[in-house]
Amino acid sequence: MNIAIVGAGSIGVATAHALAQAGHEVTVYERHGTAAEEASFGHAGWLGPSLLQPWSVQGICSAQRSPDLPGRQALPRLGASGLTAQLRWLWQWRQASRRLRSGAPPSPAMAALEKLTQHSQQLQQSLWRQWDFDPEYVAGSLVLLGNEAEHEQLGPALAALADAGTRCETLDAAQTRLREPSLGDEARIAGALYFPQAGAANGRLSTLMQRQIAQNAGVRFETQRAVRQLHPGAAGRTARVQLHQEDNSRPHDAIVVCAGAQAESLLSPIGVHLPLVALHGYGVNAPLRDQGYAPRHAIVDWSEQMTLVRLGQRMRIVAGAELGRRGPSMHEATLQRMYHRLNMLFPGSAMLASGVQIWHGTRMQSPDGLPLLGASGQPGIWLNLGHGSCGAAIAQGCASMLADLISGRSGFMDSALLDPRRFNR
Ligand SMILES: Cc1cc2nc3c(=O)[nH]c(=O)nc-3n(C[C@H](O)[C@H](O)[C@H](O)COP(=O)(O)OP(=O)(O)OC[C@H]3O[C@@H](n4cnc5c(N)ncnc54)[C@H](O)[C@@H]3O)c2cc1C
Repeated sequence: MNIAIVGAGSIGVATAHALAQAGHEVTVYERHGTAAEEASFGHAGWLGPSLLQPWSVQGICSAQRSPDLPGRQALPRLGASGLTAQLRWLWQWRQASRRLRSGAPPSPAMAALEKLTQHSQQLQQSLWRQWDFDPEYVAGSLVLLGNEAEHEQLGPALAALADAGTRCETLDAAQTRLREPSLGDEARIAGALYFPQAGAANGRLSTLMQRQIAQNAGVRFETQRAVRQLHPGAAGRTARVQLHQEDNSRPHDAIVVCAGAQAESLLSPIGVHLPLVALHGYGVNAPLRDQGYAPRHAIVDWSEQMTLVRLGQRMRIVAGAELGRRGPSMHEATLQRMYHRLNMLFPGSAMLASGVQIWHGTRMQSPDGLPLLGASGQPGIWLNLGHGSCGAAIAQGCASMLADLISGRSGFMDSALLDPRRFNR
C-alpha cells in the first residue's frame, strides 16, 4: 500500500519505520524542518513502567495532600476552548482516584498499558543494539517515595506490574541511598521502588536515529510540508492529503495521523472527535556541574510527580501538569519548585546560574491512559495518537500494532483495547 503519515514525532517516525518493514511504501509529511520538534523534543525520556510515569494514568498519581486536583506544582489552567472536556477529565480523575483508594483491582487498561510498555521497550532495545546506537541511555530506574502512604497508594499499579512479571525491588531509605549515593542529606526519603530493567534515554536523539533508519528502509520524509486538510476515501476513491501551498491533493491508500497535539484541527473537520485533553509540562535542562553529584539512575520523584535524569552532559528535570490552552508565559512557581527539588535531591549536580534551557511541552491524554490506535471510522484514515505521558516508552509497540492492523495481521495484544472509538460505545 501507499501510506501517508502526518507528523514526524517519535510516534510518526516509529510508525513509518514499522510500515516500511511490513513492505509498504511510506511518505511522512512534517511541517517542521526535521523530526522530533514538538512533544518528542524535550520530554524526560523515562522508559520505565508507564503506570508509574507521572500523570500517565488517571487516579494513580493524585498527591495525598490534594487528591482532587492533578498536582500541586502547576495549577490547572482551564482554557476557553474545550472547557467541557477538561472539566470532564478532572471529574474522571477524581473518580478514578477514589476507586483506586477504595482498593479496586487493577483495570484491564492498566494491564494493557504495561504489556504495551514491555513489548515496546524490547523492540526499542533491539533496535538500538542492531544499529549499535546509544541515545545517552541511563540503565535502571528508581521511584522515590516520600512516605509509606505513597507506597500504599501505588498498590493497584504495583499489582498490575507484578501480574505482568515486571521486575521491581522495594528498598528502604538506607538501601535507596546505597543505590543512589548522591542523594542529598536534606532529601526526606522513606524508600524507593527499583526497576532494574527500566531506564531513560534522550528521546529526540533516538527519534532522529530512527528517522535515518526508516529513510534507509525507503521511507520518504517530506519536511516543511504542513498538511492542511484530510479527505477520507469514499466509494472506490482513495483518501487524500491536501498540503498547504499545493493546489492538488495527493492520493494515498491509507493516511495515519500522528500529529500529536495538532491532530484535532485536522480530524474534527472530517467528523472525528478525539476524547483527549492537553496536559502541559516543563523540562529544565541544566549543564552538568559534577558527574559525581548526579543521579546514577533515572529518577521519578513520586511526591512531586517529577522526573530527574542525567542525559549526557546535562541534567534534565521534567514536571508540571497544566490543563487547558497553553499560554505564552510559563508557570514560574512550577519552575521554582523544580530548581528547589533538584537542589534538595541532587545538590551540586547542575549549574543553574547560566546555560539553562527550558522546554514547554504538551502531551495528549486519553481517559484511560491508553493511546487511540486504529481505524478512525472515516475510510482510509487511521490514528496513532494520545500517548499521554508515555509516548516514548510505548512508541515502538504502538507502531508495530498499527502496522499489523493496516496489514491485516493480528498483533501482539488485543487491539480492541486501543480502538479510537472505544469511548463512543
Ligand atoms: C512534560 C512532558 C514529559 C514527558 N515525559 C515523558 C517520558 O518521560 N517518557 C515518555 O515515554 N514520554 C514522555 N512524554 C510524552 C511524550 O513526549 C509524547 O507522548 C510523545 O512525544 C508524543 O509523540 P508524538 O509523535 O505523538 O507527538 P509530537 O512529538 O508532538 O509529534 C507530532 C508531529 O506532528 C507534526 N504535525 C502536526 N500537525 C501537522 C500538520 N498539519 N502537518 C504536518 N505535520 C504536522 C508536528 O509538527 C510534530 O512534529 C512527556 C510529555 C511531556 C509534555
